[in-house]
Amino acid sequence: MTHPTRLRRDGLTPHSTGHLTTALALANRGVPVLPLRAGKVPFGNCPTCADSACGGRPNMKTPGPCTCPHPCHGWAAATTDPHTLTSPAWVTVWRHAATLAYHPGGAGLTVVDLDNPDAMAWALEHLPPTRTVATTRGEHWLYLGTMHSANAVRPGVDLKSAMSYARWLGPGDGAMAPLPDAVRALAVREEATSPRGAVASSGGATAVWDRSVATGCRHTERYVRTGLNRGLALVSERSESGAGTQAFAVARFLAHQHIDCPGPCGLDALAEEIVAAAVSVDVPEPYARRAVTNGLSHAA
Ligand SMILES: [Zn+2]
Ligand SMILES: [Zn+2]
Ligand SMILES: [Zn+2]
Repeated sequence: MTHPTRLRRDGLTPHSTGHLTTALALANRGVPVLPLRAGKVPFGNCPTCADSACGGRPNMKTPGPCTCPHPCHGWAAATTDPHTLTSPAWVTVWRHAATLAYHPGGAGLTVVDLDNPDAMAWALEHLPPTRTVATTRGEHWLYLGTMHSANAVRPGVDLKSAMSYARWLGPGDGAMAPLPDAVRALAVREEATSPRGAVASSGGATAVWDRSVATGCRHTERYVRTGLNRGLALVSERSESGAGTQAFAVARFLAHQHIDCPGPCGLDALAEEIVAAAVSVDVPEPYARRAVTNGLSHAA
């Protein structure tokens, strides 16, 4: 069998005018938009706003005075203002944009981001039908109404609404339904989950997996370490929005390796290392902890 090379390069120029045209059309309908660079993440902050030294924008969780004309601060830069969208600072960025995103909360919407076929099957069974938009491996389900955003509320499921962005992949199909309690409940449960104990460690005391805590493990230290390091690298490579889901997948994969061990295998310590990796790329700790706990319990 031959393996034809796939030439799917989202190039720099051919799409740039298209993105701005779409952005203006969406803005005109009250949908705040922002450009994304390659890797589907927002453009980095300008030097003045780097590391939020400017204090951040007024619409952020900790409101700041920033009025920077560049598309800084990720989702918080999303706007419906046509003058901003066509300003010199933004036009430069549109030219290098790989794709377009919007701020669902700002448009009065919640996006249930279903990452894979399993997540889609779950949604079909548990959520009311609404407008759907196809994504690379899954679907966005759009509901009318806003809530706070949360990653990895279930395997392969993120909720994107307030203070968050979602890729614009077209208008989708179907009529939009009101945001159901079934979706709100996913995030409520997450909020109610308190970080277990680990908050006490105020510095450097992160648990590290060691063969000495895995007295009932069938594997060699080298085997466990190699798998763990590979998983930690995967989590660290992801942006904040994808790292929670990745942490879930890594936890599930690693726990699965020990399914036939009599135990203990020191999975708690493995879990702590995955949580730390996710937190290091800005996943809020309660979310990271919940994603990892879910991953461990879905290993079977
Ligand atoms: Zn800036
Ligand atoms: Zn700023
Ligand atoms: Zn084991």
